Amino acid sequence: MADTEEHHTRILIVEDNPLHLKFFETLLAQSRTAFEVVASDRLSTAIEHLVRGGIDVVVLDLMLPDSSGLDTLGRLLARAPEIPVIVLTSVDDMDVATRAVDAGARDFLVKGRVDADRLDRAIRYALSSSRAIRSEWQSPLLLSAHRQLGKAVQLLDLDDNIRQRLMFPARAHIVSIPFRRDKYDLVETVFGYRVQHVLTMGPTKGGVRYHMSVNLGDVTALAMLMTWKCSLMHLPFGGAKGGVRVDPGTLSHGELQRLTRRYTAEIIDIIGPQKDVPAPDMGTNEQTMAWMMDTYSQQVGHAVPSVVTGKPVVLGGSPARSSATGRGLSFLVQEAATHLGLALEGSTAVVQGFGNVGMHSVHCLAELGVTIIGVSDVSVALHNPRGFSVEALERWVESHGVLAGFPEAEIISPKELLELRCDVLVPAALSGQITAENAGRLQCKIVAEGANGPTTSEADDILEERGIFILPDLLANAGGVTVSYFEWLQGLQNYTWSLEDVNTRLRKLMSEAFHRSMRRSAERHVDLRTAAAMEAIERVSQALLKRGLFP
Ligand code: GLU
Repeated sequence: MADTEEHHTRILIVEDNPLHLKFFETLLAQSRTAFEVVASDRLSTAIEHLVRGGIDVVVLDLMLPDSSGLDTLGRLLARAPEIPVIVLTSVDDMDVATRAVDAGARDFLVKGRVDADRLDRAIRYALSSSRAIRSEWQSPLLLSAHRQLGKAVQLLDLDDNIRQRLMFPARAHIVSIPFRRDKYDLVETVFGYRVQHVLTMGPTKGGVRYHMSVNLGDVTALAMLMTWKCSLMHLPFGGAKGGVRVDPGTLSHGELQRLTRRYTAEIIDIIGPQKDVPAPDMGTNEQTMAWMMDTYSQQVGHAVPSVVTGKPVVLGGSPARSSATGRGLSFLVQEAATHLGLALEGSTAVVQGFGNVGMHSVHCLAELGVTIIGVSDVSVALHNPRGFSVEALERWVESHGVLAGFPEAEIISPKELLELRCDVLVPAALSGQITAENAGRLQCKIVAEGANGPTTSEADDILEERGIFILPDLLANAGGVTVSYFEWLQGLQNYTWSLEDVNTRLRKLMSEAFHRSMRRSAERHVDLRTAAAMEAIERVSQALLKRGLFP
């Protein structure tokens, strides 16, 4: 699957028996995962499909009119070695099936024993395990994180040894996590990660994301970004990130709970209030943190609220933590508007993504008098030139789960959404959304990066040239981890701050970091992203040098 864009998993079934084919198609149609099925009854046409591209997994009967046995697999793999193949076998040729796996098939299924759940599980595991084996480090996000580090190190004139130490994580933990599906005898295994980038600054800090695109490279890039964010905000943390390669939308509440508890148990030795403190990120929320906190606390024998942040308030969560990223982003949009001489009252904004960050950004920007004219989520992109009622949007999502179906708006394509004329564009969804392809068509004055890594480095250059002001992710979405820091502190002190305290201190830290970065940008004639990275990386390198090297 592509890293940055969502598409249905496309399955190629190679099967010449029409009854068997119908059977598999029926099973796939029952699946909770959205599959697109392409069928082929001979090897030659199957190979044509593969060469054309776009196939994610092959389900292959080895006995076909134009090929048979292991030869079928060999010829297929020769043309598309990177695509995982699940071999279909009947009970009496198990020997061939095992040999097929030895020869490079990802898995096999016994025809008489397959049901919808097992087929679904085999396909997802084939995809996930082939990523684990072939492409753990393949991540556009990591490439751009490396580029950013390289550029800052050069401008700061740091010793190469510093760059080398910071390019890869101090510690990376990969776990495979079995959990029970609601159907009791169906156990599924997924891959999980916890990466701690820098251990020098204090405990490590960063979210846990549940998404199908998660791999070691992405999680490492995001952990690096957390190091820079914490350093830029002067928080006493190094960066970390965790993730599980799973689509949380296909799991029930009970399944998510069991998966989260087992993931926590698998990483329990490396987390803790003084070691590494997880938080919510894409696909996880307060409830996920409550389960993590409970699992950890059960193991140590007493309640340990500060092992995670972003918890429900009743368990020691901080007031205003859930809105913090959106709130912090709106503070910086105010700073940027002041800098540009733009009046926010009566200005317009478009927000891509309506998860925690997007929704609170919409809310906080609207409080400043900004008219929200475009919003989107996984289900739909909507345009209303007269401006959305933010309360109505929130009420709709609360009762329907997604934006789709919201009345009084024109449905547009996700592409068009980013290109709407507006003052502030907030990409608050996936990474890699603003690219060299669309950067030339953006019609906004400010891009405020609610998501991590939404702009590619090529797009960055284009926006810079076009005079669009970018509030880079390390600044724009640092409100989340900043209030996480407040939450961690409140937990360690058993003391609760007021909502006003939290928001006043958040504004102060965000504004100071913004002005430090702006000063550096002016002094060194670099863009704000590079300036912010230089601020952050310089501080980390000073800490590394002061602590010295063990032994
Ligand atoms: N996941 C958020 C981020 O990427 C917050 C991390 C935290 O609060 O530790 O910044």
